Amino acid sequence: MADLLPVDRALEIVLQATTVLPAESAPLDAATGRILAEDLRADRDHPAFDKSLMDGYAVIAGDLASGPRTLKVVQEIVAGADPASLLPLAPGTAARIMTGAPVPPGADAVLIVEQSEAVPGDSRAIRATAAVRPGENLARRATDVREGDMLLAAGDFIGAGEIGVLAACGRGRVRVGGRPKVGVLATGDELVPVGESPGPGRIRNTNGPVLAALAERAGAKVTDLGIAPDRESALAEAIEAGLRTDMLVLSGGVSMGVHDLVGKVLRSLGVEILFERVAIKPGKPFTFGRRGAAIVGGCPGNPVSSYVIFQVFLRPALRKMAGHPVPRLATVRGTLTGPVRQRPGRTGFYQARARWDAGRLLVEILPTSGSADFSACARGNVLAIVPADSASLSAGDPIDLLLLDDSADR
Ligand code: AMP
Ligand code: MG
Repeated sequence: MADLLPVDRALEIVLQATTVLPAESAPLDAATGRILAEDLRADRDHPAFDKSLMDGYAVIAGDLASGPRTLKVVQEIVAGADPASLLPLAPGTAARIMTGAPVPPGADAVLIVEQSEAVPGDSRAIRATAAVRPGENLARRATDVREGDMLLAAGDFIGAGEIGVLAACGRGRVRVGGRPKVGVLATGDELVPVGESPGPGRIRNTNGPVLAALAERAGAKVTDLGIAPDRESALAEAIEAGLRTDMLVLSGGVSMGVHDLVGKVLRSLGVEILFERVAIKPGKPFTFGRRGAAIVGGCPGNPVSSYVIFQVFLRPALRKMAGHPVPRLATVRGTLTGPVRQRPGRTGFYQARARWDAGRLLVEILPTSGSADFSACARGNVLAIVPADSASLSAGDPIDLLLLDDSADR
């Protein structure tokens, strides 16, 4: 096993070879899932005016201190009203007010509508049935955010919450990390496109669509480069075209067979091969290199292997390209529901299903008939990681899990 690179070391090499793409400007509606490339400071106070948090009556808290009383209703204030247009509230009066509406000068609390009663025969008065504390049910100007406060920082992931912050600051456009361009090329004489019926001895190209889906889900702009045959000249031509991307993902042709030409062709095109064997199961023949700023991941053709290799090595590389400050994927710890056995020497990444049960994350490793059995990838929601030095784990043992980009969706 001396020639096999440990997974951590291989990932380190992949990330070192990967360059962060230049930042660009994106419209807000295309910024979800990107990495923020600027700091964001509040352009105004939030709230920008003293605001009611409830439907009810703006009042002077002191008016209600000595028990229930009747107040004259002198104005009605809707959300969107101009604060400058409001009449100051005089003692003994109230203003009917809606959630989000500006509080009139002089008022220091909002009595919720449920704590008021109509006054029979006087539609311009209410009876307050409870006291309120000064400041109750209203938000003073700038209590959430003061103009100039730092709200988001370069490197932050932009999810729905961040979109809200950006929108609140009026940012119709925002600086974000670059979006990686990924080319996906399947190699193998046996492959036919998905739309064709395989002739004798042929199979459908499933890795191409799977790798494209993974790259797309990881935020990349994907070009499907189709299928290249196991012939040096044609392979070289297709790979050369693919090297115009930021990341070329190849499948097949990296094993020891005489028709496994990918490594040789990559070298002939000036690609610096950084490693060709990793202590990982499945996916041992993963070949990785770079030419200029482009990186090349040569995944084994076995469908489960290429899936695992993408998740373990290429997804972190895409995160780095896009400006993520922590390209490595987080793991979580679960508890095995059954035993696992493996030959020591390679870190195992197994398709598994994790589910919460009575406060524990229970992990069932899915049965598979080998690295060509793709059905487990379709049913799994995590990859269970069995360390290279463990030969067997038992039910109840802790196990680290790599979350997939869609773990939460499954
Ligand atoms: P290779 O890495 O080229 O030796 O391929 C290993 C195994 O994966 C072989 O059984 C191939 O037929 C299969 N394979 C290679 N490429 C693909 C692909 N794009 N889609 C599905 N299976 C593939
Ligand atoms: Mg092949």
